[in-house]
Amino acid sequence: MIDGKTAVCGLIGDPVEHTLSPVIHNTLARETGRNLVYVPFPVKAERVGDAIKGARALSIRGLNVTVPHKSAVIPFLNSVEKEAAMIGAVNTLVPEGEGYRGYNTDLTGLGRALDSEGVKLKDERVILLGAGGAARAAAFLCALRGASEVWLLNRTLQKAQELAGEVNCAVGRECMKPLALSDWERIPEGRYLAIQGTKVGLAPDTENAPIEDERFYRLIHTGYDLIYRPVCTKFMRLTEAAGGNAFNGLKMLLYQGVEAFELWTGEPVSEEQAMICYERMKKELSGDE
Ligand code: NAP
Repeated sequence: MIDGKTAVCGLIGDPVEHTLSPVIHNTLARETGRNLVYVPFPVKAERVGDAIKGARALSIRGLNVTVPHKSAVIPFLNSVEKEAAMIGAVNTLVPEGEGYRGYNTDLTGLGRALDSEGVKLKDERVILLGAGGAARAAAFLCALRGASEVWLLNRTLQKAQELAGEVNCAVGRECMKPLALSDWERIPEGRYLAIQGTKVGLAPDTENAPIEDERFYRLIHTGYDLIYRPVCTKFMRLTEAAGGNAFNGLKMLLYQGVEAFELWTGEPVSEEQAMICYERMKKELSGDE
């Protein structure tokens, strides 16, 4: 029941129509017994500063930020948390003084999702596909969590080189190794954790994978696709066909939301509450198919 004490949280981005975030936060509000609602706000690039100022004036309790504003929003913030500043992108804003402080729960959410699947990063050999926004958070997470090496493969080699340079410099060790996607055969023999962070395979492009050669998939013991639409991507199918374990990105989405909700409310979300939310998200996605 919305009343005079209802806290309002929301999402700014462009577009925002297909977001699952309201399912996450409105379910968490109900399950934790909080008087809080979450709404998407479409915001054009040229109005990002106005939106932030207006949101604070309206006492909006918390905001998520999505594509294409994750970096553009930074100049309009009071402060930025250390890891988010390192990545150069924020997806969660928490009131601070007269403005907001920015966080990156894509990074922490992916970390929590990997933990929940029993996938470790410490001393792990990793192959990361992609060098866009999502892969960026994954690259920093791998380096910060102590992966021994990360083969960073991207269609555009220059973007992989730039991201690898930034991450190596930020963590002070040469763990990131950039390669063009087409040069994957240069990866040394071994068994790797592979994180798929390109857009290839995203619905409706469900019959494609960023690398089609089945020999690539023999290098992989676990394949983690950041895509969750469809729930089983071609990358996941190829990983499983070669004998590896495969996961989609729905838990990353869940836990980036859980972490944001915890930042806004100052209270931990229990695993049981998170799983209720996860079931709701899966149900929502099943309506897509
Ligand atoms: P982005 O910044 O636009 O980056 C797109 C990436 O895909 C780039 O590395 C790009 O390579 C690559 N790519 C695009 N088309 C390609 C093609 N035909 N062949 C090979 N590589 C291609 O996108 P993003 O925001 O990082 O999103 C990437 C994926 O992550 C999306 O599918 C999104 O759904 C998913 N995602 C999931 C979550 C989650 O919570 N689970 C969160 C964010 C994003 P170039 O640099 O060569 O263009």
